[in-house]
Amino acid sequence: MSFQELTQSELERYDRQILIPGWGLEGQKRLKNAKVAVVGVGGLGCPASLYLTAVGVGKIRIIDKEKFELSNLNRQILGYQTDLGRFKVHVAREKLKMLNPGVEVEPIVAEVTRDNVHEVVGDVDVVVDGMDNWRTRLVLNEYCVSHGIPFIHAAVSEMYGQITTIVAGNGPCLKCIFPRTPPEAEKTPVLGATPALLASLQVMEVVKLIIGIGEPLIGRMLFIDGRTMRFEEVRVEKREDCPVCGSKR
Ligand SMILES: [Zn+2]
Repeated sequence: MSFQELTQSELERYDRQILIPGWGLEGQKRLKNAKVAVVGVGGLGCPASLYLTAVGVGKIRIIDKEKFELSNLNRQILGYQTDLGRFKVHVAREKLKMLNPGVEVEPIVAEVTRDNVHEVVGDVDVVVDGMDNWRTRLVLNEYCVSHGIPFIHAAVSEMYGQITTIVAGNGPCLKCIFPRTPPEAEKTPVLGATPALLASLQVMEVVKLIIGIGEPLIGRMLFIDGRTMRFEEVRVEKREDCPVCGSKR
């Protein structure tokens, strides 16, 4: 596909962000020509895909196998009462297109597995982690590392959250940080504002990487404690013996 220029209405729509120092028309054109996958259209994936749509990422691939249930609606803000029983990706596409018809939204009803990750996630510029389980996250981590795709990890529980940006060859991967897979929760308690906050941070990371501004959260894990409203940054290191990205595998 050839590099697409900005239309008059896009110049107006994105006026307030094009003004951000370092962004400019060039940055906006990069976003328009970028492709981002959001894996999981839940508490993280709903607000993440909303803000990616609003900011003008050209193509957004949204992947989720589930339908909206009543217990989703406290946090999965693309799902309304009238959407119960419908596939999340189909509902999300409708809402996102209403917000910004210029953005191409590709809905995929699937669960990402080791066998289908290549086909389902495909060739994108950035992958956003909207998952609620470590099994899939680690599949995405491996896929992104082996294809050199930046992976924006986030996870939430209650009023707690964590986020880091993984860029292969330029810091640790998720397996370096969590050599032993954390336990899977059967039912995670969560206040909707927590994934909303983390998803906003994920979108900031995506935008920074695509435009090439600021300092991405590589080699740093940001822990957020909403109960005390303390944010803490922890340095995370690459392991040379990491089975996914290490040089001494
Ligand atoms: Zn690693």
